[in-house]
Amino acid sequence: MLANVQLSSNTQPKAAKLWMPEQVLFTPAALDEPWGQQIKQRVLALNLPVEELPRNRLTGLRGESERDTYDISKRTLAVVTSPPSSLKLSPIPPSADWQYHLAEGCPAHCQYCYLAGSLQGPPVIRAFANLPQILGNLAAYERQDAPTSFEVSCYTDPLGIEHLTGSLAESIRYFGTRSDGYLRWVSKFDAVEPLLDLPHNGHTRCRFSVNAAPISGRFEGGTASVASRLMALRKLALPRSRGGGGYPVGLVIAPIMPIDDWQIHYGQLFDQISEAIDFECDLTFELISHRFTPGSKEVLQTWYPHSKLDMDEEKRSTKRNKFGGTKYVYDSDTMKKLRQFFESEIQRRFANAKTLYWT
Ligand code: SF4
Repeated sequence: MLANVQLSSNTQPKAAKLWMPEQVLFTPAALDEPWGQQIKQRVLALNLPVEELPRNRLTGLRGESERDTYDISKRTLAVVTSPPSSLKLSPIPPSADWQYHLAEGCPAHCQYCYLAGSLQGPPVIRAFANLPQILGNLAAYERQDAPTSFEVSCYTDPLGIEHLTGSLAESIRYFGTRSDGYLRWVSKFDAVEPLLDLPHNGHTRCRFSVNAAPISGRFEGGTASVASRLMALRKLALPRSRGGGGYPVGLVIAPIMPIDDWQIHYGQLFDQISEAIDFECDLTFELISHRFTPGSKEVLQTWYPHSKLDMDEEKRSTKRNKFGGTKYVYDSDTMKKLRQFFESEIQRRFANAKTLYWT
């Protein structure tokens, strides 16, 4: 019943404070890169403590427990060069044709974090100093005379560290010069002002990840409120003639969970979205239900030992991926009900929006 619904503070705009790491480490290789020097100037201008490492290895980040290691890492920015293997790109269906990386690691604290189990070692935020090389490598992956999309948010939240790196803006400028290359990024932060005037040429789709208030309020530590993310989305989507960025935009509703009264809570999220996007624009939706693997569950339990996130295998169906790995998803009846609800709400409220996928 509506009267019983607790409205979280997440329905009110609350800008995320810009993340300021407690230490910024630079490897010698990163300092040899002009982009690494550019990052160093930004970091020094913010009065953050810089340490120049003697070798190209990150050490001293382990604490006494996994949780201590997590705390130290999440307060550390390391500026490094990406390994040569990162120049061989991997596909990333269904989100995009290819993925590339500006950084690995994220300053937020989502208790369901998608990075758990995918990245090795302490979850320190590593920003890549060899950006010109990374961008210069992408053209070879573009199809001739057909659009090719590149996702840049698989291993980081690129907007969450943009004030420290400038690497997202540089990517947007780069894709603005391409005829067939398109950039996609997604965030739970909101500091979009520096992106509004960039020459994106319609080649960057800016997306925000949003969720129902009880989920975002409880599980998404260190992020901007959903209301602030939607305000940021509005700014990016508004035409330039109205002071906006004129970007194609999108919403990633994830991870979708059938919590108590989920239709009410997700209905309220759609109300918020409708208010923020009350004008015609190029809008897409991506719908992702919650899932976990044995590996991600194990890591998340060390990072967030007191989390109330439901990861009970008994209540899930099992799905195997092509490499034989297991993931736990909702049963098909639940999935069907969720999917029907989301697709019909989108159809009803945003007839011109495109839903790219449900998973
Ligand atoms: S914003 Fe994404 S990458 Fe960052 S902690 Fe949350 S789920 Fe993980």
